[in-house]
Amino acid sequence: MKPVIALVGRPNVGKSTLFNQLTKSRDALVADLPGLTRDRKYGDACIENKSFIVIDTGGIGESEQGIDAPMASQSQQAIMEADIVLFLVDARAGLTPSDVQIADQLRARGKPIHMVVNKIDGIQEEVGTADFHQLGMGEIHAIAASHGRGITLMMERILRDFPEDEPVEEDPEKGIKIAIVGRPNVGKSTLVNRLLGEERVVVYDMPGTTRDSIYIPYERHGQRYTLIDTAGVRRRGRVNETVEKFSVIKTLQAVKDAHVVVVVMDARESIVDQDLNLLGFVLESGRALVIAINKWDGMTDYERLTLKNDMQHQFDFIPYAKIHLISAKYGTAVGDLYPSIKRAYESAMIRVPTNRLTQLLADAVQQHQPPLVSGRRIKLRLCHMGGQNPPLFVIHGNQTESVPKVYKRYLENTFRKVLKLQGTPIQLEFKTSD
Ligand code: GDP
Ligand code: GDP
Repeated sequence: MKPVIALVGRPNVGKSTLFNQLTKSRDALVADLPGLTRDRKYGDACIENKSFIVIDTGGIGESEQGIDAPMASQSQQAIMEADIVLFLVDARAGLTPSDVQIADQLRARGKPIHMVVNKIDGIQEEVGTADFHQLGMGEIHAIAASHGRGITLMMERILRDFPEDEPVEEDPEKGIKIAIVGRPNVGKSTLVNRLLGEERVVVYDMPGTTRDSIYIPYERHGQRYTLIDTAGVRRRGRVNETVEKFSVIKTLQAVKDAHVVVVVMDARESIVDQDLNLLGFVLESGRALVIAINKWDGMTDYERLTLKNDMQHQFDFIPYAKIHLISAKYGTAVGDLYPSIKRAYESAMIRVPTNRLTQLLADAVQQHQPPLVSGRRIKLRLCHMGGQNPPLFVIHGNQTESVPKVYKRYLENTFRKVLKLQGTPIQLEFKTSD
């Protein structure tokens, strides 16, 4: 599991600037996910092949500023969720009473802490950091967040004991890994119980953990699955009562670790921004996706029709995902999720030989030629696979940097149609070889 790093400090020291610097290399920026106070932002970041999750606590609220400010509860929450705390201070302002107070509170928490002296630009490092040694808060890093200075070096030092990301090895024992995600009360627990409670489902022994989701291996009609239960339904014993029932981190980790993500939404509350944010995150993560609109029971025909119309617009940014209207409570259409999950999995993991892909490319090009660029036609010659989950198609040719967006979309649609890919995003990468 990826380390979780919380940014803590009084207002204006540069937390959100650092947050943006850390996450900007990645598109998978998560903001305002369900269950989350407005002031707590979660992002996905990767430095030198080490991924981590970063939480910007927003710090102590403006109104609570000053010497008496208690650390806001959401900062406390973020610290609890974190493996490492970055305690930010401002080199220009020097040591302030608020810094001292935050340091005291952090010490009581017993988490690994790194002291980050920000805004070191235009100041000598020894001078800028001098004040802060007296806090005795461990290793001191001097950075200039807004200039992007010192950040990579700092993160390398902070993450030195954490392993590099490894390619996900496939464990046939685990079969298809399915994450059930959604905001609170949409019916995740009910769905998990329903999926596992079905006839002919054999649930294997499951290990218990604290912060992380529970992984439940089982078998259905001869196919192995592992359900990643973010709702914590099947948590064995109440290991840690303080863990929130809904956790953004759990959701992020589960999405990353799954083959197929089932996003559950509540038909009765219509689709809200939090649902769309979550969908956006799944989209960015590249995972295969199935949408389950739950609580479909007991709605009037009019309500159903309205919802269907709304959904057509709201989900048009993910045209490849299959939408299921289900009732987890009564079991209606829950079994239908499986064919879509399997199809999404097989699409995500597809392997196609180079000669077939190259032929497919040639046919597509023959149907529609790529445009001319300064009098020369773009040539696309060869296609091979570069990876799975999501499938990556690498296309070689010349002037490929000039392939227009519409043409890329045409190729994507053609690949999707011919290879019958459903439920997974696909990626195209172009390489110029002349
Ligand atoms: P937060 O309240 O802790 O999230 O702080 P912000 O990230 O909003 O930054 C507060 C102010 O400090 C902004 O005006 C930033 O542009 C500025 N700032 C952040 N990092 C640096 C830095 O490295 N050097 C300088 N000179 N200013 C910075
Ligand atoms: P979670 O927080 O996402 O795990 O949601 P739960 O599974 O705990 O469900 C929240 C509430 O919605 C409970 O009261 C469930 O009984 C109810 N619920 C779940 N699924 C359905 C459904 O398909 N139809 C109806 N009418 N209620 C449901």
